[in-house]
Amino acid sequence: MKEILETEVLIVGGGPAGCAAAIELARAGRDVTIIDKADFPRDKCCGDGLTADALRILENVGLEPSTVQNWNNIMNVIIHSPNGKIIELPLPQGRGQYAAVVPRIELDESLLNLAQNAGASVYTPVRFGQIKELNEHVEIATSDERKIVSRYVIAADGMWSSVRKAVGAGIDNYRGDWHAFRQYFSQTGPEAQHLRVWFEPDLLPGYMWLFPLPGQRANIGFGVLRGSHYEIGDLGKLWNNLLERPHIREVIGPKAIGEGNRKAWPIPSRLMDLLPYKGRIHFVGDAMGAADPMTGEGIAQALRTGRSSARAMIKAGPFKSLQAGETYQNAISAELGHDHRLAGKLQKLLERPKTAEMALHLADSNAWTRRNFARWMFEDYPRALVLTPNRWSSNMFNFDGAYQKNSATLTEPKAISSIVLGGD
Ligand SMILES: Cc1cc2nc3c(=O)[nH]c(=O)nc-3n(C[C@H](O)[C@H](O)[C@H](O)COP(=O)(O)OP(=O)(O)OC[C@H]3O[C@@H](n4cnc5c(N)ncnc54)[C@H](O)[C@@H]3O)c2cc1C
Repeated sequence: MKEILETEVLIVGGGPAGCAAAIELARAGRDVTIIDKADFPRDKCCGDGLTADALRILENVGLEPSTVQNWNNIMNVIIHSPNGKIIELPLPQGRGQYAAVVPRIELDESLLNLAQNAGASVYTPVRFGQIKELNEHVEIATSDERKIVSRYVIAADGMWSSVRKAVGAGIDNYRGDWHAFRQYFSQTGPEAQHLRVWFEPDLLPGYMWLFPLPGQRANIGFGVLRGSHYEIGDLGKLWNNLLERPHIREVIGPKAIGEGNRKAWPIPSRLMDLLPYKGRIHFVGDAMGAADPMTGEGIAQALRTGRSSARAMIKAGPFKSLQAGETYQNAISAELGHDHRLAGKLQKLLERPKTAEMALHLADSNAWTRRNFARWMFEDYPRALVLTPNRWSSNMFNFDGAYQKNSATLTEPKAISSIVLGGD
């Protein structure tokens, strides 16, 4: 063994969940250490889409959009229904950001820098090896032959969480609930400047997306539920087939070319089935199966669960691990439980093209439904808010977006005359 390192909280995994936890702990004056097996900046197979909920938490932790090169604020959404109907959904304008697309290679590096600046110690590339649970502390052996002794461990090590496996808290043969592909494209056409979602009948309740990036680039991908229409082995062929469908190719543009290889990765949405903590170990983000069962989005959920775990540890202090675990469990159940259950039910409804078409038809009824469906889709407020009166407040449907203070630079450019004259 090379060295023994002591820390109050060890976080395994420096993605959004791990960083949100680290920032919260470090700012509360706790001694916190992150290890990650990757060398940053590192890519993460993802759609790069940030919902209003994710954006508000990122603003809260102090992430500045201007410091992230390819941050793309999204102003409207175009949905292609199973019958091919095109529905345009506007997001509120001039009130901050409600959706954005940010390449994970940039987002995650910025978050890790924020954690380090807040005071967290970061060791990369260092892989989790073994774990020994003792009464008052936990011992971890790492790939660089270090032994780390800590009061708590936060397992933020993603879908295949090695920490979860090592402590026997996983589900046998679990391979995630969604399986998703994505690839970056450059030289995309003008129609690919908008955020698009295609509800192709053979993908339902899954969908295909095009999330635009600056410089005529886009993150394009699709996700399907495991065991729905296709065998996992056939998804590569399906990917090629989707890209050749004329109504999709037309939007991507004739000159668009794929960058590098397409990547595929599972998405876990099992918040209600997985153990949230075991003794002094908390599971957060994908390691907690926290992604939304209806859309597969997991960044906001990773940030939320990471932050809640940290808060529970801060509140309980280093010795009351049972209290920390229970507080964390209650927090995620209150923050995400209702929404996960509702999203799970809606996922079942969206399986049938007819019901999906009907739901989209309703969303497209008038300007109000279009505006509010877009906000609901992008998690401007919790999915099950209307069904949970304990979370109601007088302005619950009227929150500003994130980064409101920056919104002047992000909305449509003002007319030259108004800038010169100083008017609005
Ligand atoms: C194709 C696809 C598209 C998606 N699109 C979206 C989207 O548009 N919007 C959205 O909100 N969500 C999306 N998601 C979900 C989202 O990517 C995840 O929910 C999110 O990344 C979870 O964050 P996390 O911090 O829990 O885990 P991760 O981001 O996976 O981070 C885990 C970290 O742990 C490290 N690690 C793993 N094992 C070890 C080990 N043994 N030792 C040390 N370190 C380790 C990894 O290197 C990694 O840095 C998508 C997922 C996929 C697969």
